[in-house]
Amino acid sequence: MKIKRRQFIKKTAALASVYPVSAIADSSVISQKKSYKKKRAIVISTWQHGIPANETAWKILKNGGKAIDAVEQGVRVVESDPKSMSVGLGGRPDRDGNVTLDACIMNEHGDAGSVCFLQHIENPISVARKVMEETPHVMLAGKGALQFALANGFEKQNLLTDQAKKDWQNWLKENRYTVPINIENHDTIGTLALDQHGDLSGACTTSGLAYKMHGRVGDSPIIGAGLYVDNEVGAATATGMGELVMKTLGSFLVVELMRQGASAQAACEEAVGRIVKKLAYKNMQVGYLAIDKKGNHGAYCIHPGFNYALTRKGKTKMIDCASFKK
Ligand code: ASP
Repeated sequence: MKIKRRQFIKKTAALASVYPVSAIADSSVISQKKSYKKKRAIVISTWQHGIPANETAWKILKNGGKAIDAVEQGVRVVESDPKSMSVGLGGRPDRDGNVTLDACIMNEHGDAGSVCFLQHIENPISVARKVMEETPHVMLAGKGALQFALANGFEKQNLLTDQAKKDWQNWLKENRYTVPINIENHDTIGTLALDQHGDLSGACTTSGLAYKMHGRVGDSPIIGAGLYVDNEVGAATATGMGELVMKTLGSFLVVELMRQGASAQAACEEAVGRIVKKLAYKNMQVGYLAIDKKGNHGAYCIHPGFNYALTRKGKTKMIDCASFKK
């Protein structure tokens, strides 16, 4: 015991001769303060409907709220808007007329929750959060996800609005059972936030590819494909043709590239690069958004046309994303 104690005193003394104990303590306080100051809250979301998502998220972030609450509440606004026809209520159905929804969420601890092929629930993101927080699982699908949602107080409702039904019936007449894969019919809402405490979270929710095959699930509820968050590094989300994102595990790739030193912008460009190098992408859009731990952001897509909403210091702007094809 005595020897150990003596060794300890010796070591501490040696350390103190180089770094006086008070300085060690002070410098860690200073660096904590410095790094705290550096954390500028930021929220970034895919597409035009990113504006209302960001505005809602910002109300939480500006008051020192948590990124996880900001992203959930932000995307809920879009899910509940029947005019947003690619997410939640009013989302375009599959080719058989069923609205099937996919969503996932990740917090700063690396916890994740997800639902896929979920019907009749307006806010799948909140079901995904419940899966994350109240079950030992990450993903619930289809009837099981619905059963879980209903057991947790979510209301069953018809999500197929008159407008979406009309559009689908028109599509049936003209394009019977072919899925129009093009750069326009993608509109997932992916939202990433860094809060004032320096914590990152993300949420991603969609009705998926319009007029998809019944049972088709895209990238959006897949952790690592449609969304990935690592609180040490950064966060990324994807929109566009989910099959291309799933084949390259795009959001995980973006975060891992940032871990290895790439900027958020370079990481998004490399992830798009992996797609265009290996896969048939003609007429198929994919867009990535990313933020790093310091609040820097990046974005890149295959074809022109993807835009995103960025909010900092209470100001929101839409930005046209740089693209691989000009
Ligand atoms: N990524 C979504 C999917 O493939 C579609 C979208 O972004 O609109 O399901």
